[in-house]
Amino acid sequence: MQPVKFVTADSLDSDTGFVRLRVGTDLGGSGGPGGTSKPVISKNIKEENIDVRKANKLDTLRAGYKNMISEKVSKKFAEKDEVDDEPPIGAPIIAACYNGDYLYEENYWEGDVNYKMGDSLHYFEIKIIPDTLALKDTLAFGETAKLIVQAKDADSNDVEFPDDKLLTFRIESNENYGTFINANGDTLRATPVVLKNVNYGSAKDGSIRFAAVKENPDSFVTCSIRVSLQEDTTKAGERKAIVLEQTLSIDIVEPYSVYPTYFNSHGVRVYIEQLSQKQFDVKMTRGGKSVSRHHFKLYTDYVVGSGGHNHINIRANNNDNYGYFLKPNDNQHYRPLEDSTSNLGRLDNIIYNASYFGDLMRIYLESSQNKLFIDSIDIIERIPNLVELQEGNNYELVGAPQNHSGTNDPCRPTAPTSQHSVNHFGTQQMITSIQNIADDYALLHSGIIIRVNDMSLENGGLFDANNNWSNPHQSHRMGTNADIGFTGISQNDNCVNLNRRDLENIIRRHTSQAPYIEGDHYHVYQ
Ligand SMILES: [Zn+2]
Ligand SMILES: [Zn+2]
Repeated sequence: MQPVKFVTADSLDSDTGFVRLRVGTDLGGSGGPGGTSKPVISKNIKEENIDVRKANKLDTLRAGYKNMISEKVSKKFAEKDEVDDEPPIGAPIIAACYNGDYLYEENYWEGDVNYKMGDSLHYFEIKIIPDTLALKDTLAFGETAKLIVQAKDADSNDVEFPDDKLLTFRIESNENYGTFINANGDTLRATPVVLKNVNYGSAKDGSIRFAAVKENPDSFVTCSIRVSLQEDTTKAGERKAIVLEQTLSIDIVEPYSVYPTYFNSHGVRVYIEQLSQKQFDVKMTRGGKSVSRHHFKLYTDYVVGSGGHNHINIRANNNDNYGYFLKPNDNQHYRPLEDSTSNLGRLDNIIYNASYFGDLMRIYLESSQNKLFIDSIDIIERIPNLVELQEGNNYELVGAPQNHSGTNDPCRPTAPTSQHSVNHFGTQQMITSIQNIADDYALLHSGIIIRVNDMSLENGGLFDANNNWSNPHQSHRMGTNADIGFTGISQNDNCVNLNRRDLENIIRRHTSQAPYIEGDHYHVYQ
């Protein structure tokens, strides 16, 4: 026997009631109820068989009726599971079958079916339609999807529902990975992610969007999106959006350091490609798979205050100050560098060529298509292994602002303008030479200490003593220079002229070089 579906008619005029059903072989028989059904049992069958067959038919009907009830009950439970935590909702069709005193006579079975008129809305269906060509319900970090909400009856048929009814949208799981964009195009920033007072008409038209723009998952996460009717939150719907990782990144191996593009001690430019260049790759993945033809831009900016440059004026915008990029098999200098990922989702063997400065240079990577796809890496521009000259008995450290507080340099009563507070870094060899020069001069001229001015900054590189990202120091870049004044300090803190012939001889002895004369000091190099 096929299941029979009973649907209430539109003409029912009360909210609850019952309908009496009769099923039989002779509904039009004498004494029985009216009807048009005719017996299905052939008149040719012998009388003794009729009773047996009739009984069988009635048993079948009863069994069918029980089945119908149990199907209804299990369907109710199934619906309950679909809409989490919701009690079964009044349906426009049968809410419960009457399972009491059904009775049957010879020719028909009779039973009552209760009905209860509910709203035709039973739940909301949510469709997630990603903007990109992607799997259903699946989008990636940086992507958005249209949400289409449809009112449904208990049989999952579309139903009319007033456009002005208000809905609440909420993200119920992994809300750190997704949010909504409202009908005005505003992205909801708050957590928890709840968007209230959305007209059903607007939701039905797909004007609310889901946006995977908060965090980039490591692989993927599932965001549960729930839409409920504000006046009766038992009327609701839920859908899961899968959010994949999507990452544009700089692929680089340590050490993240290069030499500044530098000059040697004599002010002659020396550039050693291998030392001032750092190679890296750019790659793009979506859900772990490579993304080809993704256009991106690379550019650099220095980290303010790094490398001992304690001044905040902006460097002139040129390759010497910001470094530049090279592509493989291409000698052009790019700043910025713009290109696209290959079919393998990459651009390999990009080279960063250092600036003149010893500092922290930040390489920025940006997608040209979506500003959420960004990465950056800090490259230390540094002459390695520089050490700081510490205070000593036979020399005074001068030239940095803090060296001139009070009267500790009687030869220079006003502080220098240099805003480089650590100016005495050098190679270990240079540090030792300065200490030996000071000691030897004190042996010859007891009680006189020499004044050691600028050496190199902590990372080396161009030492712009005038705080203008430019000379005057041509050298002082590699920790192999020091400026020693022609004047020194006596035991009673007076500024005295040094014996230049003695000082120069001592310098020659320890550096194997004759120092240059620069204004009021010897420029010592090694
Ligand atoms: Zn500087
Ligand atoms: Zn110098």
